[in-house]
Amino acid sequence: MSGTGTQTVRTLVPMDVAGRAERVRAAAAEAGCDALVVVNLVNVRYLTGFTGSAGLAWLGTDELVLITDRRYAEQSEAETSRAGVDVRIEITNLAPKEILAAAAVGVDRIGLEAASVSWADQRQYAEWFGEAELVPTTGVVEQCRQIKDDGEIDRMATAAAIADGALAEVRPMLADGPTEKETALALDTAFRRLGADGSAFATIVASGPNAALPHKRPSDRPIGPGELVIVDMGAVVDGYRSDMTRTMAVGEPDPEARRVFETVRHAQQLGVEKVAPGTPISEVDKACRDRIDADGWADAFVHGTGHGVGLDIHEQPWVRATATEPLEVGQVITVEPGVYLPGFCGARVEDTVLVTEDGARRLTHSPKTLAVA
Ligand code: ZN
Ligand code: ZN
Repeated sequence: MSGTGTQTVRTLVPMDVAGRAERVRAAAAEAGCDALVVVNLVNVRYLTGFTGSAGLAWLGTDELVLITDRRYAEQSEAETSRAGVDVRIEITNLAPKEILAAAAVGVDRIGLEAASVSWADQRQYAEWFGEAELVPTTGVVEQCRQIKDDGEIDRMATAAAIADGALAEVRPMLADGPTEKETALALDTAFRRLGADGSAFATIVASGPNAALPHKRPSDRPIGPGELVIVDMGAVVDGYRSDMTRTMAVGEPDPEARRVFETVRHAQQLGVEKVAPGTPISEVDKACRDRIDADGWADAFVHGTGHGVGLDIHEQPWVRATATEPLEVGQVITVEPGVYLPGFCGARVEDTVLVTEDGARRLTHSPKTLAVA
């Protein structure tokens, strides 16, 4: 590692972007498709390395085509070659009708990402693809994205370490009574200064009664002594995100608020301890929920226990009671139980963890104590 100014320049472990097309092809075949039109831009990025804001990919049986417009001619070349991906790039400022129709000659079943294709688009594809059967697919690429390679894990671990560093800087500042907005801004600035590309999502800082609203936007409310304050934050490094929540307090909170926090902290620990390959995902949810239920706050835990993280802040798999599928090595999930008592207080504790052969490996390491200094 070498430093330029205060920003650290890091060398990241390479990702296997080139190997993704083959895995997605297999998943598409399993979904009954001979080819897949990928329009979700995060999925396009995953397959090709291209990060532009417009474009789509055609994944045929023996070719990968990236179609974008002239604004991205140079960038698409540079990014896909840097990723080492074997892709044909087509640049057009018109509808990609001819390019797609030519690629689709002789293809029987073409998958369309049902969650990303509008009704209007679907009608257009039906016209362009003529005789081929259109197959609505869900989660074909997303399912492949669940298992992270070493390069992806390195980016997420780096993002998580930056968020840990940012919180370590900002935490003692809470004693000065900043507003929620000022606190969020200090974190967002620290992410960038510490080398992140930005914030993984809009940073949440919610204090006192605001902490009872799980996704409260930061307000002009100053953080007062004895209040629980929930800070939910993450950084982005090369497209990959981290996600962490800590609950803190300036001075000692009300005994009931302290009890809420201790319950949530313990529930979160029990949830993380459940993480192991082969364990049904629902068991992680149950471990958290049972602990909170035991203290009588079952109805105050108003959201799912967690979610996958990667190129998206919320992605597969979902950590909830209905997720009976087993955890797999290489998945990265959050464990984030919370208790919210309207008008009074709230607490949430969240880590991003990697599923390994030996159980959970935490990527987020900030201390889980209320104290700010
Ligand atoms: Zn979060
Ligand atoms: Zn989360």
